[in-house]
Amino acid sequence: MNLHEYQGKEMLNSFGVEIQRGIVAQTPAEAVAAAKKLTEDTGTGWHVIKAQIHAGGRGKGGGVKLAKSLEEVEKIAGEILGMHLITPQTSAEGKLVNQVLITEDVYYPGESETSEFYISVLLNRATGKNMIMYSTEGGMDIEAVAENTPHLIFNEEIDPAMGLLPFQTRKIAFNLGLSGKAFKEMTKFVSALYTAYVKSDSSLFEINPVLKTSDNRVIAVDAKVSIDENALFRHKDYEALRDLREENPVEVEAKAVGLSYVDLDGNVGCMVNGAGLAMATMDLIKQAGGEPANFLDVGGTADAERVEIAFKLILKDPNVKAILINIFGGIVRCDRVAQGIIEAYKNIGTINIPIIVRLEGTNADIAKKLIDESGLDVHSVVEFQEAADKVQEVLA
Ligand code: GDP
Ligand code: MN
Repeated sequence: MNLHEYQGKEMLNSFGVEIQRGIVAQTPAEAVAAAKKLTEDTGTGWHVIKAQIHAGGRGKGGGVKLAKSLEEVEKIAGEILGMHLITPQTSAEGKLVNQVLITEDVYYPGESETSEFYISVLLNRATGKNMIMYSTEGGMDIEAVAENTPHLIFNEEIDPAMGLLPFQTRKIAFNLGLSGKAFKEMTKFVSALYTAYVKSDSSLFEINPVLKTSDNRVIAVDAKVSIDENALFRHKDYEALRDLREENPVEVEAKAVGLSYVDLDGNVGCMVNGAGLAMATMDLIKQAGGEPANFLDVGGTADAERVEIAFKLILKDPNVKAILINIFGGIVRCDRVAQGIIEAYKNIGTINIPIIVRLEGTNADIAKKLIDESGLDVHSVVEFQEAADKVQEVLA
């Protein structure tokens, strides 16, 4: 589950990580009130208006702007709120901005004495250990740094039994070229950041930039936080941080009815029971020259109701040119599934795309007969290869 920048910063701060102060706003008037409050609390005269969407690269897309007066805060907030912000990480249509974060300006005066760093915390799957990845080249495109100057990116692995040790935080501060007060501040920052990562059960923190201010404080200016969904049961309060407006609406709907659905870019919708069979079915579709339009696991109880819901979800995707249903009847009986498909088909009314059904397992023969005799435009197949051939045929 991804958080907005403002939520991520608040969460980090609750674990003692120093952050650039900010207040979230939904309207230009709220933005002005937020700016006034920040001036009272921090003494800042200038403010930064930052679009809150679940995508990075906002600065490049025009979603992060400096305001030098309250009039500018109001004007810029008005421009950014409601815009469809296009960044290198959004689709071509961009993402609607519902909220902006008004922050203190932490760069001026004394910008020449500031430095921007990159720090992320993540799991290195190859070694099974958490890792802090960091670089002196913060603020800009870290992907470009990795591509062109990989020696400027450092990794520090953390032994799960020992945790992050003081010599490691010192090494990081040293490699970032810091000394004196800033060195000390950086060791505190990294230590608090790692504690936050572990305690919040996050799967990714990406703080870019981490800023060394002109008065040698070290603060998070941006925060990309992803929380491990499988650990959410331990953090009931984080559920309120979910912003459904940022998520794929069909995926949200599927989740609400307990179906595991992931939207993909292809043209063949698939409905499968079991994640392993779903993966194999997606391979099959690719081999047949198609591209899967989704991953959909209807689970063990593929009854009529669930099949109908699954059909409706798949049909919401206008790119779908065919649907492949591949269900193994181990616990569930194939004839029941077939009945479900037939009922769902009739309930939905017109389905103008070909449907290929492969039901294998208990009562598969009865199921095939039911489908063949239903009079519907449903092709039933038995073999995996037959299913692939049929997909190829209907796409041609
Ligand atoms: P991103 O583009 O989505 O990664 O958004 P960031 O939060 O990283 O902001 C983009 C850029 O805005 C940063 O790299 C900074 O250079 C700049 N920025 C952020 N906060 C301030 C600030 O307080 N003052 C100034 N002058 N620039 C800022
Ligand atoms: Mn950033």
